[in-house]
Amino acid sequence: MENFRIGNGYDVHALAPGLPLMLGGIEIESPVGCVAHSDGDVAIHALCDALLGALALGDIGKHFPDNSDEFRGIDSKILLARTMELIKAEGYKVGNADITIALQAPKLARHIVRMRETLAGIMGVSVSDVSVKATTTERLGFVGRGEGCEVYASVLLYK
Ligand code: MG
Repeated sequence: MENFRIGNGYDVHALAPGLPLMLGGIEIESPVGCVAHSDGDVAIHALCDALLGALALGDIGKHFPDNSDEFRGIDSKILLARTMELIKAEGYKVGNADITIALQAPKLARHIVRMRETLAGIMGVSVSDVSVKATTTERLGFVGRGEGCEVYASVLLYK
């Protein structure tokens, strides 16, 4: 089993009016966006944590500290690309990734394919290896009240 590694990641960002909403590497038209040091792409952050977690390489905060000027406003696609370099340096490839985005609004259904294409391109896998799912929380909790966006990610790595 030493050739397979599984990882999971989780991230939350608060939502506020007038900020761009970046999710899965694309900008989504929305009256609210994520409050963050980076571009706030909470889906990519959870995915990076899953990738790092699979190889016990720590977390995104360790590699890309949110108090560093280098990462202020940074495009999270760059963080994903750099995370992939760490994975490749260990000799691993991505088998598949599965991401669940919990957001009350806006609806994400029409953006899912472009998110999958974007993430697959950066990870160097086919679109069929990247799943992005979206759910509301039926108006329950901080997601349901529209106060935040929550993302869970799982990955399988192999070599
Ligand atoms: Mg984050």
